[in-house]
Amino acid sequence: MIPTVLTNINIVDATRQDPLTNAAIVIREGSIHDIISRDSVPKMRDAKIVDLDGAWVIPGLIDTHNHMVSPLAPFYFPKEPIIDRYIRQGRETMDALQVGFTSLRVVGAPDFSDVAWKQAFESGLYTGPRLFVAGHALAPTAGHGQGMRCSVESDGSEGFRKLVREQIQGGADFIKVVMTGGVMGACWDDPDHAHLMDDELAAIFDVAKARGYQVAAHAASPETVKTAVLGGAYTIEHGYTLDEEAVQLMADNGTYYNPTFCITHLIPQAAVSEYHKSYVEEWPLQDDLHQRANERRPEHVEGFKMALEYGVRIASGCDAGPLKDTGLLEIELLVQNGMEPMEAIKAATLHGAAVCEMQDKIGSIEVGKLADLLVLEKNPAENIHNIRTVRMVLKGGIVVHDSDG
Ligand SMILES: [Zn+2]
Repeated sequence: MIPTVLTNINIVDATRQDPLTNAAIVIREGSIHDIISRDSVPKMRDAKIVDLDGAWVIPGLIDTHNHMVSPLAPFYFPKEPIIDRYIRQGRETMDALQVGFTSLRVVGAPDFSDVAWKQAFESGLYTGPRLFVAGHALAPTAGHGQGMRCSVESDGSEGFRKLVREQIQGGADFIKVVMTGGVMGACWDDPDHAHLMDDELAAIFDVAKARGYQVAAHAASPETVKTAVLGGAYTIEHGYTLDEEAVQLMADNGTYYNPTFCITHLIPQAAVSEYHKSYVEEWPLQDDLHQRANERRPEHVEGFKMALEYGVRIASGCDAGPLKDTGLLEIELLVQNGMEPMEAIKAATLHGAAVCEMQDKIGSIEVGKLADLLVLEKNPAENIHNIRTVRMVLKGGIVVHDSDG
């Protein structure tokens, strides 16, 4: 592969206080080989020089909580056969790559379809994002996610030991556990209720730890967040309600927090930007879910603000779909709810990489890392909506999207 030089660029990423202006990136064998001034690009024979005319380059985006397609698929597409859904998972993740998501963490999908697509993308059969996958989410009988087909159910410690082992055998990269109810569910599926008992949780954490797998905990209430952090959860998903003790524990333990704002914000009452407004028009929620989302929203935002104040490490995960829309909306919602744009970029890049246990390879623009890069017309640190001004996407140094054709 001949080296590529992206020149005449400004670099924005979480490892730099200020943008690195008038720069150039030298890419060799898919990795960032050098970062230099545009004025000192050496004469290289057989190199491809790409003059980007003052464009802004950030690391490829990473969404750390999704199911490849909206988990509400059975609601939006009630007659969709499961095979068609597997195929749509591939289509929608490939579309997400086109807007800049070079990596995704999938927190539950049917029948190891996430593992299959991961292999299809890794082998080069199709061009898609890097996937970091859970297999199925683990839930009890009458747990959250019934009918969404992203989880498998069991009961008792023996049952959950077996489920963890089966996910490992099926090719999971981490374990996803559904500790509580959720916002998008039946009336008996209450986010304030703990669904797993202590022995069941202990079984999950013990097997995962013994086998060297991290646990992502869907935990919606302060008490279950505390139990998850103390049990060794690597990430907290949702945390719709938090208290100071829960937030302090996350900060002290370096636990990553995925607020998944899309769940309580994909309704007209929360829509501020034109992108958000057109999304809710296209994808309306059924009345009961709409009401549940609206009721939960104020507490959700309050908990997030507390997490910000305590310095909790926050990642960006939308939990909704299509990812090409909701992945970007989630990053914008972090800002809408009080995060600085640069911190939101950090959530969707550097922190996302750590959540995917790939911090040595992706998440920032540094020499030695993979050249997963998003080239934008405008600076996203100035206005977060500028993440939509996509000009070019590179994954492992290969141009996978170029708006100039
Ligand atoms: Zn989810």
